[in-house]
Amino acid sequence: MKHLRKIQLMHHLFGKREDHKCGQCSNFREYRYENIYRKCKVYGCTSSEASDWAKSWQACGMFGESYGGVPVIKNRVNLYEKEAEAPIEGQQSLFCEDKQAAAALKERENDG
Ligand code: SF4
Repeated sequence: MKHLRKIQLMHHLFGKREDHKCGQCSNFREYRYENIYRKCKVYGCTSSEASDWAKSWQACGMFGESYGGVPVIKNRVNLYEKEAEAPIEGQQSLFCEDKQAAAALKERENDG
């Protein structure tokens, strides 16, 4: 999931609307300052280019829907953290073993 582009993550979470583009969506925002900044309200409207959006992207399942949840960009970090923490099925967690080894070493140092 780490390499999912922003719009791919939206498709992953909400599905895809083949019949529309983001530029037609009520959640699409365009802010005009010195430059034009385009954002998706559902993904999150931050001041960072990490939340920049494109009119031409294929719409997601939230097309035209109101959304009162946490912006996806805020949860994105949590999704990655959970994925990174969860060991792959059948994989041993080296982190836990390292912690156990460190505890055993410390115990030995204290005894000696
Ligand atoms: S809610 Fe979906 S369709 Fe609407 S702008 Fe955001 S990504 Fe595009």
